[in-house]
Amino acid sequence: MVVSDYVVGISGGIGSGKTTVTDLFAKLGIEIIDADLIAREAVEPGKPALKAIVDKFGLAVLDDSGYLNRAKLRTLVFEDSEVKNWLNELLHPVIRQQMLLQTQQAKSAYCLLSVPLLVENKLNEQVDRVVIVDVDEQTQLQRTLLRDKTNAPQIRAIMNAQATRQQRLAVADDIIDNNGKANDLIKQVAHLHQHYLQFAKQI
Ligand code: ATP
Repeated sequence: MVVSDYVVGISGGIGSGKTTVTDLFAKLGIEIIDADLIAREAVEPGKPALKAIVDKFGLAVLDDSGYLNRAKLRTLVFEDSEVKNWLNELLHPVIRQQMLLQTQQAKSAYCLLSVPLLVENKLNEQVDRVVIVDVDEQTQLQRTLLRDKTNAPQIRAIMNAQATRQQRLAVADDIIDNNGKANDLIKQVAHLHQHYLQFAKQI
């Protein structure tokens, strides 16, 4: 049985095209581990982390169906850096452990670990290789606006809270240029895929 010992971390800012790119790798048979999904699952009803959050903030952080009210929690975190630290200390180990488990269980020749906040959380140090999906800020803003139907100030605020384009590029081993058409990604992905297959064989 093939097991992915080789882990490629993939990141990029909001709306940069991570999902579009990882869908292409998935079509080549590569398993994608999604840190966002893991983070959401970590606070599902019944999970110890959700109980800890309710113990600290009360039932007001839950919606009517017993799920975490993320907007409410975000407000609490935004207002208080101590709360933010507490939450990070609670969730980060759980998320990291689950990411590790899923990368160990992946069965493709290598696997991709998709982490929007890879740079911010220094996860670039935990993977074998880093690929960054790069796009200029104006295109990033326009595509995200089109997709999310929110307003520009809200998206700009998220962009400003994330690592800068330069900070991301500084940790990149490989860069996928997503300034062009979505079709332009296919060749870039196919090219990197060949490299990653070779690298995975060498470890
Ligand atoms: P997030 O981190 O916010 O979830 P993401 O990095 O996964 O975003 P995508 O959802 O893949 O980004 O792309 C953002 C939007 O831009 C989507 O609507 C996607 O269809 C579109 N998009 C991606 N690449 C291109 C492209 N080259 N040309 C036009 N639209 C694109």
